Amino acid sequence: MPEDFRYASIVLDTHLDKPLDYALGDFANVAEPGARVLVPLKGHLRKGYIYKLHNRPEVDKIKPILKIFPKERNISSKLFELALWMAAYYASPLSKIFSCMVPTSIRKEIQPKAVWLTLAKGKEKTLSFLPELRYKAPIQAEILEKLLQSPKGLFQKDLPAHAVRSLLQKKLLSAKKVSGSDDFLFEEEFFPTKPKSLNFEQQKALTAIEATMEKGIFETHLIFGITGSGKTEVYMQAIEKALSLGKKALILVPEVALTAQAIQHFRARFSQKIAILHHRRSHGQKAEAWESIQRNEAKIILGARSAIFCPATDLGLIVIDEEHDSSYKQEEEAPTYHARDVAIMRGSLENVCVVLGSATPSLQSFYNASKGKYRLHTLSHRATSSLLPQVTIVSMKEAWEQAQGFTHFSKELIEGIKKRLPQGEQTLLFLNRRGYYSSQCCPSCSYVKGCPHCDISLTFHKQDNFLSCHHCGYRTEPLRKCPECGSEILTFKGFGTEHVERSLKGLFPDIRTLRMDRDTTKTKDAHEELINRFRTGKADVLIGTQMIAKGLHFPHVTLVGILQADTMLSLPDFRASEQVFQLITQVAGRSGRGDIPGEVILQTLLPKNATIQLAAGQNYISFYDQEIRMRKTYGYPPFCKLIKLLFTGKDAAKVEERAQAFRKEVLRHSPLFLECFPVLPCGYAKIKDNFRFQCLIRCFQILPLTTRLLSLKEQFSWNKVRLLMNIDPMSTFF
Ligand code: ADP
Ligand code: ZN
Ligand code: ZN
Repeated sequence: MPEDFRYASIVLDTHLDKPLDYALGDFANVAEPGARVLVPLKGHLRKGYIYKLHNRPEVDKIKPILKIFPKERNISSKLFELALWMAAYYASPLSKIFSCMVPTSIRKEIQPKAVWLTLAKGKEKTLSFLPELRYKAPIQAEILEKLLQSPKGLFQKDLPAHAVRSLLQKKLLSAKKVSGSDDFLFEEEFFPTKPKSLNFEQQKALTAIEATMEKGIFETHLIFGITGSGKTEVYMQAIEKALSLGKKALILVPEVALTAQAIQHFRARFSQKIAILHHRRSHGQKAEAWESIQRNEAKIILGARSAIFCPATDLGLIVIDEEHDSSYKQEEEAPTYHARDVAIMRGSLENVCVVLGSATPSLQSFYNASKGKYRLHTLSHRATSSLLPQVTIVSMKEAWEQAQGFTHFSKELIEGIKKRLPQGEQTLLFLNRRGYYSSQCCPSCSYVKGCPHCDISLTFHKQDNFLSCHHCGYRTEPLRKCPECGSEILTFKGFGTEHVERSLKGLFPDIRTLRMDRDTTKTKDAHEELINRFRTGKADVLIGTQMIAKGLHFPHVTLVGILQADTMLSLPDFRASEQVFQLITQVAGRSGRGDIPGEVILQTLLPKNATIQLAAGQNYISFYDQEIRMRKTYGYPPFCKLIKLLFTGKDAAKVEERAQAFRKEVLRHSPLFLECFPVLPCGYAKIKDNFRFQCLIRCFQILPLTTRLLSLKEQFSWNKVRLLMNIDPMSTFF
């Protein structure tokens, strides 16, 4: 660094959008962009990162930097460059980018001192305390209930501190100090595995990927391989290659697919240390993983979305598995980044080979591949002898006629389940809605009980007999009387997973079921436990939502039932068909992964619908052709770019008025190549007492448009209305 700079603009960890100037003082010769510093602000000490060195401070009275932290705390120059690109592209303040790049535990230097809690008294004894506690101290009761469900124990920091203290005093809990890592819970016996000899298509893909890595250049490969075609095997051999070149490998998978099973799969292949990064890990664990990457101990990094920001140097390979998955996109908070797109940018900044993989690539990626921007590799067969499942479409209209009323299960599905029970084969039932009924309503006046804080009806949960809001968690008792007309005859509408489970038990009284949705996976390890119980044959049927669609490998599942395959098709969203196609293909892919061929029963009210038919035929290419033509005709991505301006605030009229006014500003300053749609209420018009309006912008290039939007945003008088710019939104509806 040249020594003549005397000032630095610094991005503080606080949510200030603008960098502030500080004097370098004695640190002039060690300061550099990305350095972690300590500075005074309004009588407090604050941490931040140096953004720029300069000699032209904006204000007269300038305070000095107090400390520069050791280099391990820096943001590397490459990641800093990535942050700058993200700030511009996603129109987001740098402070938000940094807080999403660096885990809280590292920024706040939280020491991994974890306390592990278990029940002090036996199950029976604990249960006997519950009724009174539920009444007097419901939070304490909730903690005990959680522990009853997680007999191994829980981390203290995941629980409310005050209530834990009281329970410790009452000697209902016992505590012990453990290291920040709970890896000991994940350790399972495993046998080391060897690389498989690849089939022709796998080998071809691997050879091309290896060539990119040998050249040390940036290039993106797309592996389009049906479920079970051995994509993971190709990733693993590519990782091996990266390691043999002295480089590191970063693998991203969707959060819910990052199960102990998936982690073991990698651990069993590689003797090197693997750093695991995902949300469900504790602060201590994340800090430990992060530091092992910085110390160059971990050569392989396996993580969910935000692992794309890991501080690894010398990356040789970045893999994005299930690249189409919407969990890679941050939608409701700035920066609204897509980890796949950030990966590609990171790859190009650091000369890394990027591999995307999917059985149902996003239209965007497949389009890029077809234009030669990515290199396409197709894996068209399952890698083992197992065949793709046989899919049957069943018309539910006919099923209901036959049953003379509503039923979840067509004759075909009932037969399918029945046939498998004595053989010990398992069934997976997929329904994209949890709870028992999705709303309580009044047939005489059509009143529907909605959430007082959100624009959504309340879901009825039968097991605990309450109505709850799936947006904000609001809970209340079911109505006895209609608040509008006073009628006492109330009904329910719409069925969820809980109802399916009950009805199934009505049909097969002895059937053993498990249910996996957000209600049954609230505690930290519940997700893992359910998967393990099903995998080890503790149930005949697993009923679940989206959660069961991704990545899971259950060798004994030979039947998958998709109930209501079409509910999402009716959403006015340009990605609706794409999402339904992906979901059906992913769920169907869970069937017949072992030695016995699988079957899929796809129940729908739209048996003739083109998307349903193509999904049933697992015909991605025809679907792509159909959909890409539509996108072209109507001018949707990948033929243009979208920006969704989301306006929120407590006062609906004011939000709408400000939204209209901002739209006018955009139009007044906008270049001709931009199209600005009218302001509309969002699909969910209110969430957590915030009213939501949106305005869609269609354009051909995001940069430098976002820079201009950002400066308009800064000059605009917002009057308590907030604006979130969602770049490349996943949905144009919600
Ligand atoms: P995908 O990631 O495409 O869904 P996987 O990589 O999980 O597929 O492979 C599915 C199954 O096929 C796994 O059990 C895997 O071990 C096996 N497999 C993959 N490649 C080969 C191969 N070349 N020879 C034999 N078995 C293979
Ligand atoms: Zn009524
Ligand atoms: Zn709500």
